[in-house]
Amino acid sequence: MQMFLEGRWQSGSSAFQVHNPHNGEVLDSVPLGTAADIESALTGLARGAKIMRQLSGYERAQILRKAAALMAEREVELGRTVSLEEGKILAEGALEASRAREVIEVSAEEARRVVGEMVPLDSAPGAKGKFGFTLRVPCGIVAAITPFNFPLNLVCHKVGPAIAAGNAVLIKPASDTPLSALKLVQILLDAGLPPEAIACVTGSGKTLGEAICRDHRVRKISFTGSYEIGDWIARSAGVKRVTLELGSNSPVIILDDADLELAARAVAAAGYANAGQTCISAQRILTLRPVTGDFLDALKPRVVALKTGDQMDPDTKVGPLVREADACRVESWVNEAVGQGATLVTGGQRRGAVYQPTILAQVRPEMRVSREELFGPAVVVTECGSVDEAIALANDTRYGLAAGVFTRDISRAMRFANEVDSGNLHINWSSQWRADLMPYGGLKDSGIGKEGPRYAIREMTEEKMVVWHS
Ligand code: NAP
Repeated sequence: MQMFLEGRWQSGSSAFQVHNPHNGEVLDSVPLGTAADIESALTGLARGAKIMRQLSGYERAQILRKAAALMAEREVELGRTVSLEEGKILAEGALEASRAREVIEVSAEEARRVVGEMVPLDSAPGAKGKFGFTLRVPCGIVAAITPFNFPLNLVCHKVGPAIAAGNAVLIKPASDTPLSALKLVQILLDAGLPPEAIACVTGSGKTLGEAICRDHRVRKISFTGSYEIGDWIARSAGVKRVTLELGSNSPVIILDDADLELAARAVAAAGYANAGQTCISAQRILTLRPVTGDFLDALKPRVVALKTGDQMDPDTKVGPLVREADACRVESWVNEAVGQGATLVTGGQRRGAVYQPTILAQVRPEMRVSREELFGPAVVVTECGSVDEAIALANDTRYGLAAGVFTRDISRAMRFANEVDSGNLHINWSSQWRADLMPYGGLKDSGIGKEGPRYAIREMTEEKMVVWHS
C-alpha cells in the first residue's frame, strides 16, 4: 500500500514489509517515510486545517456518519486485516472492526455538540452587566501516534474526535501494523473528508517522531503506546497539547466473599485476550489467602482450555504475540520468576511467537512479572493477608490505568473505588473492560488525558473566552 499525504497516495523513496506474526508471511509493503515526508504532510495539513475549520458541525458529522456506514460495509475485510497484521484471533479482529465503527459513529454524534458555556461574569466583583461565554475551536493539526495492539480502533479513537472537532489529522501508525490505518484513510476519503485534511505517514517512529513532535504546526499530539516513548514525547513536544495513553500492570483483587466462578471467568478472558497484549490486561491477581486455592482451581481449567496457534483458524483462542522477540521476553520473565520461587500452575512453553497461556502463583511483588508491564498471555497471583494489604499492593505500582475487585460487600467495593489509584475501576469485573464512549485514561505513569470521543474532543479543541462589555 502507499502512504497518504498532500492530498494523494504516494510511494516514498523506500519501503518496508508488513508480516503476519504467526508465520512470517509478507502481507504487503508500505513506504518508509522520512522527516521530509512529515514536512510535506504538515504543509498540506496546514491547508487542510483551514478547510476543516470552515466546515459546520453538521458537515463534519455527515462525513463521519458516512465513514461509519462504509466501515460497516467493509467490516469483514477490516477485521481480517487487523487479525492478519496484528495476530489477534479472528473473533477479536471482527470485534475491533465493529468497535472502531462505533467510535466513528459516536464521534459523528459528538461533532454536533461541541459546546462552550455561559460564564456568569456578573457574579464577579465589579463585573455587573458583563456577559461572557466560551467558544470551543479546533486545535488545527492533531498528530495521532498509535500502537500495534489495536491498529484500527485506537486510530479511530484519535481520528474520529479530531475530525469531529474540526481538525486536520496526521496519523503515524505502528510499523508492525500500518495496513488497517491506511484502509481507514481510504474510507474517510470515500466518505468525503477533504483530502488535504488527512495524512498517514508510515515508517519508523524514531525518525518520524522527532519531526512530528518538535514541529510547532502540530498543536496537539495524541499518543498511545509505551511509557518510554510517551515520556520522550512529553519532553520533546514543547508548548503543545499532549494526551498520553500508556501502559499498565493492572491489578485484580479477589476478596474472600467473591463469586469465584465469575472472577475466574473474567480473569480467563482478561488475562489472555489478544495474547495479553492489551493495555488493561489483568496481570496482577491479588487474592485473599482463604480463597486463593479455590480461585486457582476455578481458573486453571479455563486457561488450559485456551487453544493456541494460527489466529486465522476459527478454533484458536490465543494467537501469536506481535513479534517472536516479545514471546521470548515473556518466556524469560516467567522463567526468572520460577527461578525466584514462583509456581508455574500451567503454561510456560513457547512455540515461535506463540506463548502458552500461563498462570504463575506465589509471586512476590518485587518480581519482574509483577513490577513491570508483562504484555503477554500470563497472569501472576499474589496472596494477601487482608483487604488493607490487597489495596496497598494494588497501588504498589508506577502505573494506574485499570483495576478490578470481586466482592459482594458494597462498602469494600466503595473502599476499592476510593483508594485504588487508577483511571478505570471495575467492581465485579476484571481490569479489562471498556465501552468506547466512556472517559478512558490513566493515572500516574499510565498517562495524561482522556479518550472516548466526547472527552477527546475537549482535548482536541481550544477554549476561547468572550467577554461582552455592555
Ligand atoms: P510503542 O513502542 O511505544 O510505539 C507506539 C507508537 O509510537 C508506534 O507508532 C511507534 O512507531 C511510535 N514511536 C516509536 N518511537 C517514537 C518516537 N521517538 N516518537 C514518536 N513516536 C514513536 O508501543 P507499542 O509497542 O506499539 O504498544 C504497546 C504499548 O502501548 C504498551 O505499553 C501498552 O500498554 C500501550 N497501550 C496503551 C493503551 C492505553 O489506552 N493506555 C492502549 C494500547 C496500548 P514504530 O512502530 O515505528 O516504532
